[in-house]
Amino acid sequence: MQYIASISYGKDSLAMLEVIKRHCLPLDRIVHVEIMATKDIPADLPPMMEFKKKADKIILDKYGIPVEHLTASHTYEEYFYYVCNGKKSRNRGKIYGFPLQKGNWCNSRLKVGVLDKVQKGAICYIGIAADEPRRFHALSETKRSPLVEFGWTEEMCRAWCESNDLLSPIYTTAARGGCWFCHNQSVEQLRLLCKNYPEYWALLLKWDADSPVSFKGNGHTVRDFDKRFSMEEQGIISKDKKFHWKDINKTPL
Ligand code: SF4
Repeated sequence: MQYIASISYGKDSLAMLEVIKRHCLPLDRIVHVEIMATKDIPADLPPMMEFKKKADKIILDKYGIPVEHLTASHTYEEYFYYVCNGKKSRNRGKIYGFPLQKGNWCNSRLKVGVLDKVQKGAICYIGIAADEPRRFHALSETKRSPLVEFGWTEEMCRAWCESNDLLSPIYTTAARGGCWFCHNQSVEQLRLLCKNYPEYWALLLKWDADSPVSFKGNGHTVRDFDKRFSMEEQGIISKDKKFHWKDINKTPL
């Protein structure tokens, strides 16, 4: 029986490794699922990728186990352009495009499926904190949370990460945790992506033009956001004032 710790590089999963060590719990492997946007571009933004590199060194020094970075057989972009051939699907013959906001294909194909394969027949440790009862339903005999077992709260995890140089930039800057192309991200996060990573934004616009599914569940596209941000830049609309999409549609650029 193997014991596997699954980490996201968030404060809870990193502090979990310390709890495992302090309480001498068995541990054979530490794994992380690396989602890839394309073959060359990861789903995490560069500050997060840098942090992971640094954290990997600290983890190896502290616990003597290298973090295994696992990836799905296909990238986000490859699934995006996969042609749906489900007999009953109303999208038969069309590419997947952006995931639906509810029931998305990305999490299961790019992350959960990869973890399920590696965790088969193993005991898996996951970073659920002792004060997160809404997540306890994910725990079972084969999915354990050392943080819950030994009473570590989110605040304790954060404090431990801070004092061990293991606090991810998602807690200290406006950097987003999760994929930079995520359809669930906020307007502010999209604005930062557009401003700070124009090459990623251009790729998102290309996908947007090809997708049979709108980027946002309410029908808004990346092109809508692009127009909005461009109007903000030109001072035509203010990003501070209450925003209405109709203001954009009636104002030519
Ligand atoms: S962060 Fe967003 S895009 Fe990435 S797997 Fe999760 S839901 Fe999908």
